[in-house]
Amino acid sequence: MTRFIFVTGGVVSSLGKGITTAAIAAILEKRGLKVAIQKLDPYLNVDPGTMSPFEHGEVYVTEDGAETDLDLGHYERFSDASVNKYSNATTGSIYSEVIRKERKGQYLGKTVQVIPHITDQIKEAIKQGAQRGTDVAIIEIGGTAGDIESLPFLEAIRQFGQEQGKGKACFVHLTLLPFLRASEEMKTKPTQQSVGRLREIGIQPDILVCRCERPMTEEMRRKISLFCNVVEQDVIQEQDVETTIYEVPLDLVREGLDASLVRHLRLEDTPNPDMSDWEDLRERFRNPKGEIEIAIVGKYIQLHDAYKSIYEALAHGGAGHQHKVRFRKLEAEEVLDEGPEKLLAGVHGILVPGGFGERGLEGKIQAVKWARENGVPCFGICFGMQAMVIEHARNIAGIEGANTSEVDPDCPAPVIDLMDEQRDVSDKGGTMRLGAYPCRITEDSRAAALYGRDMVLERHRHRWEYNNHYRDTLEKSGLTSSGVYEAKNLVEIVELTDHPFHLGVQYHPEFKSKPLAPHPLFLGFVEAAIAQKDASSNPSSSKQVEA
Ligand code: GLN
Repeated sequence: MTRFIFVTGGVVSSLGKGITTAAIAAILEKRGLKVAIQKLDPYLNVDPGTMSPFEHGEVYVTEDGAETDLDLGHYERFSDASVNKYSNATTGSIYSEVIRKERKGQYLGKTVQVIPHITDQIKEAIKQGAQRGTDVAIIEIGGTAGDIESLPFLEAIRQFGQEQGKGKACFVHLTLLPFLRASEEMKTKPTQQSVGRLREIGIQPDILVCRCERPMTEEMRRKISLFCNVVEQDVIQEQDVETTIYEVPLDLVREGLDASLVRHLRLEDTPNPDMSDWEDLRERFRNPKGEIEIAIVGKYIQLHDAYKSIYEALAHGGAGHQHKVRFRKLEAEEVLDEGPEKLLAGVHGILVPGGFGERGLEGKIQAVKWARENGVPCFGICFGMQAMVIEHARNIAGIEGANTSEVDPDCPAPVIDLMDEQRDVSDKGGTMRLGAYPCRITEDSRAAALYGRDMVLERHRHRWEYNNHYRDTLEKSGLTSSGVYEAKNLVEIVELTDHPFHLGVQYHPEFKSKPLAPHPLFLGFVEAAIAQKDASSNPSSSKQVEA
């Protein structure tokens, strides 16, 4: 029998609701429970796939090819909860389903309304998200209590909770305790008001998680408990972390959140969590043996969330080697304008992430060239891999006019080209090559050494592909194809063998990296960057070693 936890947010957005939800999953798993997580987003897009990264941050792709909210990335990084196309629903997806049913005449002549038809569809989506065999389904509601567009979702979870009955559902509300510098105190009023909004709708939170800069005093806890009608032990402090978001599960266990949750869900007989792997991880983040600097040469650099999973995967790779990874975030266009040497000098590795459209491509190509010529580790992902292929084609293989037909449809040598099955696609939503595909790894390649396996499953999100017409020329001039999707003979990995690290992948390995299990390619890239740092800070000794 599945229990349900609903996580809502109040006061302001960007409180870290996704991370808190993910951390709840992590600590319940440590109590031996099987967890599913779902995000309900109140916006009208059917999914975030058509939104600009500036608007919404990264689009996170699930194994089964759904384009979803980036919070699902947190869920998968923190937990083993399976996340799939049912794990993210939006106002858009709910309404389109209801409208589809209405057109089919499935409402039997009724007036179709927000309550009960939209709310019923939301409840249906919650049940689908829970999946068979789940002990606890955690549902995060996007937005902030009081938003107009969240109302149907809040009404639906209110009904859902009531239908489940006591001990089967639990409402967690995340709020902010702002610290006022002028009066040197933390304020509880916004929390009281936010809980007030929820209670107007009919939801009495069982647990309050209070985000705060400084520790919450016992007096504040008493006050919040009294005004919000939540017992003191269920008023949980979630203070800003010291070094990394991966401390959150530990902090929440220390504050007793897992105990509160299992009490409300009548799961007290589950064992106390053993958090030793998370403790070990925290140590590796807190006491790094060294530090490296990685340049990210992208197009959506101003917004950290636009490459969220990439930054996280780099941090995981760093923690795996007990190193801190600093990011030098560079606009690809600036690399082109100012020259790579000026902006890239001194970095220990360069990561060229995915992207779409013309802007920034030539800058990415310049960065790849600089990395190749200077022996600096370079890791290309998706559009970044395509930039590596174009750079090699133009500058090593001597393929005149090499480009991607995405940017120049009439270029003389489209070394990156559209797959035939993509040529007639006109809809933008959900039509790319999406989700996990198997990739056969070539023996004796760097990819093989890093993966330690000859077959991997990695997630895709793109339309264009390496063009096999140029494969022979590219390979003969040194660009090894070290991974292939055999069913369609598509090159998925390219690399230079005589370089410290020059590797590009058509897929998105960052989606499968976890702090407790860093992705092998990110571990390998960070390792190469550490070696680059050691060599550059101690050139004479590295020469001696070579000699
Ligand atoms: N724009 C490229 C394509 O569609 C790369 C996409 C990406 O980097 N995610 O093939």
